[in-house]
Amino acid sequence: MVNERMFGLGNEPSAIRELFAYGMARKAEIGDDKVFDFSIGNPSVPTPDAITQAVLDLMGEPATALHGYSPAAGDPGVRATIADSISRRFGIQATADRIYMTVGAAASLAISIAALTDPGDEVVVISPYFPEYKVWIESARCTCVEVPAHVPDFQIDLEALAAAITPKTSAVIINSPNNPVGAVYSEENLRGLAELLTAKEAELGRNLYLISDEPYREIVYDGIEVPYVPNLYARTLVCYSYSKSFSLPGERIGYIYVSNLMEDAAEVYAAVNGAGRALGYICAPVLFQRAIARCVDIPSNVAPYAANRALLTEGLSALGYEFVEPQGAFYLWVRALEEDARAFSDRAKAQELLLVPSDSFGVGGWVRVSYCVSSDVIRGSMPAFEALMSAYR
Ligand code: PLP
Repeated sequence: MVNERMFGLGNEPSAIRELFAYGMARKAEIGDDKVFDFSIGNPSVPTPDAITQAVLDLMGEPATALHGYSPAAGDPGVRATIADSISRRFGIQATADRIYMTVGAAASLAISIAALTDPGDEVVVISPYFPEYKVWIESARCTCVEVPAHVPDFQIDLEALAAAITPKTSAVIINSPNNPVGAVYSEENLRGLAELLTAKEAELGRNLYLISDEPYREIVYDGIEVPYVPNLYARTLVCYSYSKSFSLPGERIGYIYVSNLMEDAAEVYAAVNGAGRALGYICAPVLFQRAIARCVDIPSNVAPYAANRALLTEGLSALGYEFVEPQGAFYLWVRALEEDARAFSDRAKAQELLLVPSDSFGVGGWVRVSYCVSSDVIRGSMPAFEALMSAYR
């Protein structure tokens, strides 16, 4: 006998991973250039040279130190470097003793949720949302409460959120720039959120934490600003990752920053350490902790994603598709041509187009197109998008 819930999670891969696996098999069958795989968020921009060089330089250092354990929360020097960078970039006095190094945003979120909740609590997410949130929330034996984003701008709907917060709510998860819709929450919207949470804390007499999932912070277009959430709401935990900004998803490196402005920061940071310990997320990969510390301030290369965004949105507009204009991240949220997004995704498959149906993001009627692919895939896919549109006419 095994754990039934874990068996279920392992036996049924996420819709994204399922489509990605299908794409790999299909490419092996009919050729890489015949399949237009828009399924997964694997960055197509090469990892910055500075990271590669840092890894090569580090490989020259004594192996025992290089490959040895760091403290559970991460190397103190690395954490200090990251804290200094946060302080310089965002005007907050961040300190190393509020940073916990993780194996990417996935671990940052699973740890933060476990640290902030008790079984039976509710954690609010803004739908459509990254599907794994629900897995981590339910693994902490909490309820995932979905609040639809405000349409058509996909900002946080503050009225709907106010109605969803109950005496059992312990945290709200936000993700800006957003996967899957590409929205960036405005400062005004986030200020409204901060006011709402502060008022609800007073009304309910309990702490309400904000978990800000930000792996796409640097991937924005047209010079749009991404406000630093801890400056707006003190009880914020930032879940960061270098997977997207430095194209390092396979190396599994990121961090949690427990805002220094939070009055209970010491207690929360201790709980983060405890959750990391309980979940086995200690001592993130040391080689990459140290490589990151050498490159912490280098900019991300966003130009190829901006070019892809233009190529894809211009192409799909000309074909008559409806979509949300993305302000950040590298996903396009496209209206399905029938109510049933799964059926639409299946019909797209027949044209060798791999589009993720919106159901797993908590809403029906849309698909997500990951445009972190080579521009050739986007150019090559246009006849398939055209044939798909024709199939519905
Ligand atoms: N959060 C969001 C919104 C994501 O899109 C992803 C990955 O695609 C993650 C978290 C997990 O990122 P990581 O690879 O750093 O674990």
